[in-house]
Amino acid sequence: METAFAGAGETLPEDDRFVCPFCHRAARLPTSPKPLCESRTCACGAVVLGAAVGDYDEITDEAIGLFGVPVRPEAAGYEVALRMELLRAGVAIRPGVVRRVELGDGFDQRRQYVWFRRKDHAGGG
Ligand SMILES: [Zn+2]
Repeated sequence: METAFAGAGETLPEDDRFVCPFCHRAARLPTSPKPLCESRTCACGAVVLGAAVGDYDEITDEAIGLFGVPVRPEAAGYEVALRMELLRAGVAIRPGVVRRVELGDGFDQRRQYVWFRRKDHAGGG
């Protein structure tokens, strides 16, 4: 399910893009180890990663690393296959919002946010 992008003029609190789709609270913790992407961690264990729209592979790569997901050789370099590896490892993926983020110097970027949470996070292991 995609979040509709309302276009320019949309004003929402900054934390809106960090509202966790798993528990519906705002994620406020820094992600550790710190990814190259913009990221936060929710109290429920979900991690959000943000990258420029179209850089979904960057987000997937970060998630693979953060969750320590083993990647079969045939999946390496294929974004869709890597996402399947995450799912196979028990990591749930939820699409987040798309927001225009100021980069400074008159530049901005449409950034997409994607959420990840280990399904068995409460079950030990
Ligand atoms: Zn959460």
